[in-house]
Parts: sequence; C-alpha cells; structure tokens
Amino acid sequence: MEKLISLCKRRGFIFQGSEIYGGLAGTYDYGPLGSLLKNNIKDSWLKKFVHGREDTYLLDAAILMNGKVWQATGHVDHFSDPLVECKECKHRFRADQIQDTKKCPDCNGDLGDVRQFNMMLSTKVGAVDDTASTTYLRPETAQGIFVNFKNVLDSMSPKLPFGIAQIGKAFRNEITPRDFIFRLREMEQMEIEYFVDPDRWNEEFEYWKDEMMEWMEEIGLNMKNVYPTEIGEGDRAHYSSRTIDFEFDFPFGRKELYGLAYRSDYDLSKHTSSSGQKLEYTYPEGAKIVPHVIEPSFGLDRTILAVLLSAYREDVLKDSEEVRTYLALSPAVAPVICAVSPLLKNKPELVDKAREVHGLIKKEFGRVAWDDNGNIGKRYRRQDEIGTPWCVVVDFDSLEDDTVTIRSRDTGMQERMKVDEVIRFIKDNM
Ligand code: ATP
Repeated sequence: MEKLISLCKRRGFIFQGSEIYGGLAGTYDYGPLGSLLKNNIKDSWLKKFVHGREDTYLLDAAILMNGKVWQATGHVDHFSDPLVECKECKHRFRADQIQDTKKCPDCNGDLGDVRQFNMMLSTKVGAVDDTASTTYLRPETAQGIFVNFKNVLDSMSPKLPFGIAQIGKAFRNEITPRDFIFRLREMEQMEIEYFVDPDRWNEEFEYWKDEMMEWMEEIGLNMKNVYPTEIGEGDRAHYSSRTIDFEFDFPFGRKELYGLAYRSDYDLSKHTSSSGQKLEYTYPEGAKIVPHVIEPSFGLDRTILAVLLSAYREDVLKDSEEVRTYLALSPAVAPVICAVSPLLKNKPELVDKAREVHGLIKKEFGRVAWDDNGNIGKRYRRQDEIGTPWCVVVDFDSLEDDTVTIRSRDTGMQERMKVDEVIRFIKDNM
C-alpha cells in the first residue's frame, strides 16, 4: 500500500485533499493522471451498462435533494454506524470494527457507551436558518434515480425490465475514514436501479451478478482476489431478501468492493406514500404494478484502488539489479495509451518526424503523450510507472523507410513496423 500511495502522489494520480493546509480526513484529489484513469473507468462502465444496452437510461440528478427524501427512505433515522469514544485519548472508533468495545485499541483506555452516529452530512439551503432549510449531501446516488422514476417513465416510455443508471458524488461522514481512497467522506458511485417484474427478480439478480463480474474482468481487476459473498439474513437491509457483496482482497484485508442488492419495491413504495405521487408502471395491456428493483452498486474510488492494486508490478531487469516498477493497466483504462519519442531530441529531423507520428496517433486515440525527456531507457521507466502500454520511438531508419519501433510495456519487447500500421497494431492489442 505504501509503495502504491507514494507512486500515486509522485506521478500525479492521487493527492491528499487540501494538502497544503494539513489535509481534510476522508478526502482525496485526483491529479492529472488519476483524473484520466477515473474518466476512462467511467467511460468503460457507461460503454457496458448504458451505451451497450437498449434498456438503460442515464441520469444526472442533483446532489442536494429535498430533505423529505431522506426522511422517507429512513436515512434520517437509521443511516448510522455504531460509535464509541475513548475516555482517555478521545479517539473514535466504529464499534463493529474493533475486537473489544470496552478497551481503546490506541491507548488501552476505557471506551464509553456505544451510540448510533448518523453518517449523513447535513447542510442548510437558502438564507433562512431554520430546520425546514436543513438537507443533506446525498449519501448515495440511488435516491436521485427513484425520485425521477416517474419523469423517466413519462419522457422515455421504457418497457419493463429497464434500468436507470447514474454516476455521481456521494458523501458519508464516516467515523474512521481510512485506507487511502477505500473509505472516504466524499466519494463517487456508479449505480443502476434495474426495474423488473416482481416474479422475475431471481433470474435478473443472477444475470446482474454475471454482468458485474464480466466488467470487473474488462477493467483488469485480478479476479483471483474477487469474492462474491452472500450476505446472511441478519446482516442484510430489512427490505432485501438477497444481497451479494463483491469482496476484494485489499492489502488491509478482504473488504466490500461492490454490492448487488434486491431491494424489492421498498424505495418506490416509500416515496409513493411520502410524496403522494403514484410511482407505478403500466403494462401495455393496462395492468399496473410497482416494479421491484435489482441494484448493482459500484464505488468508483474503490474501483480505482482495486485497479491500481491489480496492476502494480515490480520486476528485476535483465542484466542489472535495477527494479522496474510498472502498472500493468488494461489499455482500456490506462491514462496514456501510447507515448511517442524522437530517439534524440537535439536532431530536428527526428523531432519533426516524431511530431508527425505523434499527431497521427493522437488524432486516433486522444490520450497519447509526447516524451522527449532524458534517454530512451528513462522514458520507458517513466511510462512503465504510469502504466502506458506502448512507446513508439522515431529513429534514423524512420527517416529512410517510414518505420518506427513500438515497445510493449509488459514484455519490454520491441517491434519495427510502418508508421501506418501502428494504429492498427494498438487497436488489435487493446
Ligand atoms: P461499507 O460496509 O464498506 O461501509 P456500505 O455497505 O455502506 O460499505 P453501500 O452503501 O453498499 O456501502 O455503497 C455502495 C458502494 O459504494 C460500496 O460497495 C462501495 O463501493 C462504495 N462506498 C460506500 N461507502 C464508501 C466510502 N466511505 N468510501 C468510498 N466508497 C464507498
């Protein structure tokens, strides 16, 4: 973990939030390369779960919602974790995450009584400071989808089963934010509410389990570290008769990466009774039902952490003691897909040719870097460390026969090919 965190900072992936002011616990900022990685992961998710389907609609709801939403769903009363505080050092812990709820794990002092701590971050909306103006930064993206159920039905006329998908920020006042970007106070979620006929929830649940696993493989997660775990009745939300947590072997333990839950008609029914608006679906033949819901829920930050951990590699270079660190990122998500260099940067004819090649490849893939710093060996090391799958070098032969070398990150192998074959080569190997 330490090595990965240091690489993330050094190479512009992830920085501590508000770092120059000493940070703000539970917040991280994505740097230039981290932002690209994050966007590529979102794009891959959208490609599979929205663009790749005909039955899923994208939504981008507001983070701030009417406070009644969170009362209706039970979040105001029940969205809490058990908190204990040490009477000596005042450190706070989640009672369900420590062995002994009487003794402080940090100083061995006595812990106080366990109490429920609501994890929603509240805020005031408008100039009048009264309780009516209180609302919350949404703790999950899901409710933005449920409250727009009718709008999507009325505007898009979907046929059951159909999904509404959303990517967006969510906020939780975690008692103990920790483990880098695993447990954050400000995070991003990618969620789908898939509305189904109540009789078909079981088949749909199995289908979504497979879809989720397929996508995890596509973005390069080490599937040997993924464990779909059935959640027992006592640990599930009361409205769910089936939940699977996809757990992942993180360096700090096996923990939840994603969730897949059957939420019945709980949310739509709660919003119907609280808002007075009927949230139901009418079959073409006229029968009305409140659809049931299968919810695949993906944390984006946890995805980024699992992707980086799955990709992190160290090997010893042939004929030297030097350790090479590289990220074996899938080309689908790598921030830079290809770097282009002139062999020597003080030879204008090489630079001109390399610029031409760079422009050509960049036009096709966008995320293509120009790298002429240091010698070729150093450029390769630098690109390896950020997970660039291919490096193209323009040398003196290129000027003669319009060929370049293309080097693959994982094997270090170089091939010579015509400039106009490079794009095809990358596409074939993506
Ligand atoms: P945990 O048990 O780890 O607190 P949860 O069961 O409360 O997680 P859900 O409410 O199911 O999580 O949220 C859906 C997804 O959002 C999780 O599977 C996870 O990927 C992500 N997530 C939840 N809380 C956080 C957090 N504090 N920081 C980063 N990602 C989170």
